[in-house]
Amino acid sequence: MAGAVTSKGCQKIRGSQIKELLDAKRNVLFDCDGVIWNGETAVPGAPEVVSSLKQQGKNVFFVTNNCTRPRENYVQKFSRLGFNDVAQEEIFSSAYCSAVYLRDVAKVQGKVFVIGGSGVYNELRDAGVPFVEEETDTSGGSIYDCPLDSEVKAVLVGYDEKFNFLKLAKACCYLRNADCLFLATDPDPWHPLRGGRVTPGSGSLTAALETATDRKATVIGKPSRFMFECIASQFGVDPAQCLMVGDRLETDILFGTNCGLDTMLTLTGVSKMEEAEGYRDSEAPEKKDFVPDYVVDTIADFLQTEEED
Ligand SMILES: [Mg+2]
Repeated sequence: MAGAVTSKGCQKIRGSQIKELLDAKRNVLFDCDGVIWNGETAVPGAPEVVSSLKQQGKNVFFVTNNCTRPRENYVQKFSRLGFNDVAQEEIFSSAYCSAVYLRDVAKVQGKVFVIGGSGVYNELRDAGVPFVEEETDTSGGSIYDCPLDSEVKAVLVGYDEKFNFLKLAKACCYLRNADCLFLATDPDPWHPLRGGRVTPGSGSLTAALETATDRKATVIGKPSRFMFECIASQFGVDPAQCLMVGDRLETDILFGTNCGLDTMLTLTGVSKMEEAEGYRDSEAPEKKDFVPDYVVDTIADFLQTEEED
């Protein structure tokens, strides 16, 4: 893979170095959680950073593996947190991109069985992709006698707070058919919550289904390239003109590497500088793909560049 033999890595940049980097890019891709906000709190300065980049004529895109809400809810969240100029077209969530994949790439001829929440269902609905309606009552029997829909041609797994044994069992039955597609919105293993708690991510649910079916899901979200392909096809962006900014080495930075983008780790989220340096100093060539080109403490550092010049 390209990048495996370069000595790139973990360059901590500030001030005029950030300006120089941004001046060379037309497009900035941001992950959301841990980069521009944490939960319901914007990273201080992030709204100003986004506005400033746009005022400089740059394209700003948001690429998130979080599939829990449809894009219109993201627009509302951006607005609620003080981002006043983010459009729905700039938001590429794993739920939206999964719907695009099913409609435009897989061209699925039948229904999708969903393990996931309203974000996934709403995006499928908006894309015109048929799906098995979510069951609202749980009295639908057991896997021995519950009805199965013969029109199911794909199983899509995302974050699901109502995940249960019967959903898992039904998905297993559908995936017995080798022609039934097996997709996952994203591979995230877990997510941080307040107070040191964590919640299991989509990847953990997908892993259960992979074990039960002895199949591997096609992953739509980062680090797969597909979200970038969605952006590229809609906006015609050149990878060499893009900077990917994320907080998670194993998804965001690997995604950037996989897509041929310059990458930046921001330290307001999950991954730490020591982990990035650990990958950089590792003997294993495949670990190099997790190494960011650049590191900043926070994207608010983007603002200092203007004051200095
Ligand atoms: Mg993140």
